[in-house]
Amino acid sequence: MSCKAVEEGVYLIDTYALNVPRYIAVYLVAGVKGLALIDSGPSSVAGRVVEAVKGLGFNVNDVKYIVLTHAHMDHAGGAGLLVRDFKEAKVVVYERVVKHLVNPVKLYEGFKSLFGEELTSRYGFFSPVPADLIIPVKGGEMFDLGGVALTVISTPGHTPHELSITVGSGSIFVGDAVGLYLPDADYYLPATPPGFNYEQYLKDMEFLKGLNPKKLYFAHFGSPPNPLKAIDECVKTVEEWRRYVIEKSKAGFTLEQIVNAKAEEIRVKAKLPFELAKLLTLMNVTGLTAK
Ligand SMILES: [Zn+2]
Repeated sequence: MSCKAVEEGVYLIDTYALNVPRYIAVYLVAGVKGLALIDSGPSSVAGRVVEAVKGLGFNVNDVKYIVLTHAHMDHAGGAGLLVRDFKEAKVVVYERVVKHLVNPVKLYEGFKSLFGEELTSRYGFFSPVPADLIIPVKGGEMFDLGGVALTVISTPGHTPHELSITVGSGSIFVGDAVGLYLPDADYYLPATPPGFNYEQYLKDMEFLKGLNPKKLYFAHFGSPPNPLKAIDECVKTVEEWRRYVIEKSKAGFTLEQIVNAKAEEIRVKAKLPFELAKLLTLMNVTGLTAK
């Protein structure tokens, strides 16, 4: 487990989910009146997240909010477990997924059908969140932690219920809204699962750039050196993948052939284990070929 302050009052917790370092981050924001977690991580790492908060010297009862950037399993699967330890915490999520968070069967099955049983089980189960602990949002809401506030913005390109969260300093937690940043390789990857909306994504990126963020905090993983350049790089990589997938599909290649060809390239360039590179490629190609 590694935790570090990334700016005053903001901490990055490396969850080591799937035993891969620097792949899934959870962030902690500390104000004088309370704490907020940005994402829970999957349920398999819930214990580590609780230990990390304690290890940073905070009281578990000071966690007031667990803000979910979106309800994919790697970001939200552990929320229902965390609220057992963070007894004062409410879970903040986009309003239209509240019912699925209360009964996450659909979220779990959707994830499993894309990523397969093996990987899904390594993330643990999708823990349900009691309805009375959920605060539904749709963008525009503000959460005051005392001396620092979080503001929710809707960035629905990655998935229709994706939220980004600005923190008082001018930095933005972007979940998967922009894409993936692999810090070890200084490499960007698209995050275009089924549900991805290309035109909306381009609008989201213009909107985020207009906010002139001080830093971008990616869930996968950390903050790239130059926020505006990072957005441009991500847009470029999405456009390249999109062109590639459309071209190959037109030429009659099957989904499997496209994925296999691309996954090896990603393993090398992104410095990821092959299995993970393949799954991310599958996610992206599936989303880009979906009608
Ligand atoms: Zn993700």
